[in-house]
Amino acid sequence: MSVESPGRYVGGEKNQIIKPIDDSIVRTVFCFPDVYEIGMSNLALQILYKVLNGPEWSSCERAFSPWPDMDKKMRENNIPLYSLETRSPLNEFDVIAFSLGYEMCFTNVLQMLDLGGVPLLAKDRKDTDPIVVAGGPVTCNIEPMADFFDAAFLGEGEEVDLEFTKVIKEYKDAGKKDRKALLRKLADIEGVYVPSLYEPKFEGGRFTGYDIKDNAPSSVRKRIIKDLDSVEYPLSPVIPNNNVVHDRAYLELFRGCIRGCRFCQAGYLYRPVREKSMKTLCEQGIAIMNNTGYDELGILSLSTSDYTELGALTDGLLEVFNKQHSSLSLPSLRIDNFALDLMEKASQTRKTGLTFAPEAGTQRLRDVINKGINEEDIMSSLELAFKGGWSTVKLYFMLGLPTETMEDVEGIANLAIKIEKLYFDTMRSIGAKPRKPEITVSTSMFIPKPFTPFQWEDQNTEEQFLQKQTTIRNMLKKHRNIRYIWHDVKTSCWEGIYARGDRRLCPVILEGYKRGSIFDAWDQFFDYEMWTGILKDNGLSWEDYTQGRTVDDPLPWDNIDVGVRKEFLKREREKAYNEQVTPNCRQQCSGCGATCYKAGICP
Ligand code: SF4
Ligand code: SF4
Repeated sequence: MSVESPGRYVGGEKNQIIKPIDDSIVRTVFCFPDVYEIGMSNLALQILYKVLNGPEWSSCERAFSPWPDMDKKMRENNIPLYSLETRSPLNEFDVIAFSLGYEMCFTNVLQMLDLGGVPLLAKDRKDTDPIVVAGGPVTCNIEPMADFFDAAFLGEGEEVDLEFTKVIKEYKDAGKKDRKALLRKLADIEGVYVPSLYEPKFEGGRFTGYDIKDNAPSSVRKRIIKDLDSVEYPLSPVIPNNNVVHDRAYLELFRGCIRGCRFCQAGYLYRPVREKSMKTLCEQGIAIMNNTGYDELGILSLSTSDYTELGALTDGLLEVFNKQHSSLSLPSLRIDNFALDLMEKASQTRKTGLTFAPEAGTQRLRDVINKGINEEDIMSSLELAFKGGWSTVKLYFMLGLPTETMEDVEGIANLAIKIEKLYFDTMRSIGAKPRKPEITVSTSMFIPKPFTPFQWEDQNTEEQFLQKQTTIRNMLKKHRNIRYIWHDVKTSCWEGIYARGDRRLCPVILEGYKRGSIFDAWDQFFDYEMWTGILKDNGLSWEDYTQGRTVDDPLPWDNIDVGVRKEFLKREREKAYNEQVTPNCRQQCSGCGATCYKAGICP
């Protein structure tokens, strides 16, 4: 009771699954390297928890990063990090599976292993130690963490997780103990990357390629689920003890995105688009609500407006939900007449805020990034929305995009000012009494990411980002109806190192952890000066990772195949520089390479 939110550490939630501790069962603990409230909002956790608890011979439990107060108590009292279901220390499991959704959680992985009594470095683990594996989008370049993981899953986990644990089961049943041989066998599963089989080479401070050991595959292809209607979905998700970040049930409509915004890693990583059928979704949505007691269902996917039957789906669900006094929560939709109508129906009388993500302040830069949204559309949709009674608008932008000039930066503030004027003009034109509109401008920092057309770009420096933030702040100072919020520059600068990092960062991360760094994703804990000092002590610099790459340089993630070809990304990069847009997958296939999966939208 002496720690904050003890509910994080006790388990016992509705719908948790407890299986016996038995040698015939392969025991996995799903680890989320952040606090309980964030982890329990993670859909992948709920999906894989259900999948791995499916067969009799497999069990899955959960563990989360203890918050610093609990971390301290556990160390003082020699309490190992344990799973919530059976209170087993992590080192008693066969598999420890981490979900890596963002790079800044890296030191929390080390915290969890350390508290769980598991050697931090894969090379120090004995035959009897658990196999430590990573999944999630970050694994498309796991190199900065390669020394700590025995294996990584690439792509979607529902099938590969069970194939992986099945091999471990066979190995266990046969009484085999040779860890090295087991890892080599696991590397034969499609979608499984075993870092120790790939020795990176460096020359003159630059990555030059890999020495591949033991005849491992030269590249590892990500896995996808071809038919989303046929895979398990958690219809009885575990209901968290605490108020979590997104406290509602979730329904996933589709995976992938038809649009190819050139900065967006998810848009390329999850290709191709695959939709669930409306019938499946209606059945699943109703079942989840009945099984959980939630009164709100959130629908979820990368770009929800692009679901082909969104209107019919929401109508179908609302018909049932209205009778049950439960509601449907829509994510930020691409705002048009149709979306306003949907939002009106979903929220009934409550007018929630409208969200737009133009990402860039001018049409020129929006074409560079292939953001298929233009100012006229935003203005005409907003006029309609203002007439319909909406007065809260949120606008998301990125600073530091390739080719950005100060004119583009000023364009961000100018757009917000035009929207403020539009609100009052619209109210005047319809003779309505204006309320105080709330317009929020939010800027984040562009970080070039692997597997995007911008993977070779320079990242802006701390000074450049700060100058751009100041410009916008000054321009919006006098506009009382416009609020400007910005992200911390230092965290984004550091994230840029991890995103395109290589294996030389493993000792840096280990040292940062040893000096006490955890929860780096939380601004209050992140110590940029300490980290840059460690980087320097290791003979590395921020520039090594964020500046001066050419399209001919070998990349640390060249041994990973996500379907989208490098040649396509180079073509898209050229088009970006020529301010040319690429049609979305539904308008025309651009031949990105993902057709190799023979699934979804691809011809
Ligand atoms: S619409 Fe653009 S930014 Fe959004 S998920 Fe798709 S590609 Fe990414
Ligand atoms: S192959 Fe064509 S349709 Fe398929 S994801 Fe790539 S661009 Fe889109």
